[in-house]
Amino acid sequence: MHLILLGAPGAGKGTQGSQLAERLGVPKIATGDILRGAVREGTELGRRAKGYMDAGELVPDELILDLVREALADDSARQGAIFDGFPRNVGQARSLDRILLELRRRLDGVVVLDVDDDVIVERMSGRRTDPETGHVYHLVHNPPPEEVAVWVVQRPDDREETVRHRLTVYHDQTSPLIEYYEQTDLPVHHVDGTLPIEQVQAKILSSLNR
Ligand code: AMP
Repeated sequence: MHLILLGAPGAGKGTQGSQLAERLGVPKIATGDILRGAVREGTELGRRAKGYMDAGELVPDELILDLVREALADDSARQGAIFDGFPRNVGQARSLDRILLELRRRLDGVVVLDVDDDVIVERMSGRRTDPETGHVYHLVHNPPPEEVAVWVVQRPDDREETVRHRLTVYHDQTSPLIEYYEQTDLPVHHVDGTLPIEQVQAKILSSLNR
């Protein structure tokens, strides 16, 4: 199963993607997570990506495609993958089509998590990450346990001004992918991303007939 999760930053792709990946026994390929790891480790990739990320801009495609190629070539991805945060524009979507074709694989579907912008801004301002594990919490809706709460941090790109910019980037560059995929014969499932986490997961699974 190769599945794309689409939705604005903060729509829940990370949380839903992890749960789905576990259920379906395939890895989640989250380009944002890979890039943050590279920034943390201070690699060449991280050094080149950091400025774009902190500003809420997309990282250039050429830095992203190799990551995806590598992740898909991994043994763990033989049965498929859940794509979270990739593709992010039409160019990346075309590249993904090519990469999958080379591997003689194909996409099975697209899930769009629908969440309005004002809800996104509220969610993101309360979002905190455990820098050790990458686990994501929300100060109100999903607070970290006491022992973790002392070291959770706000991602630099989760500050309100940057979130608003990321939403603009999403509407300009990423949301056109919904139409891109609707014009193919791939099933595109819309799920209300404002529902509780378990209900969103259940709706995604039922849309996939699981
Ligand atoms: P995310 O965790 O998916 O919200 O990604 C965080 C940041 O990483 C984005 O704002 C971009 O700067 C960068 N990023 C993640 N995935 C991609 C991608 N597929 N293409 C370009 N930039 C990306």
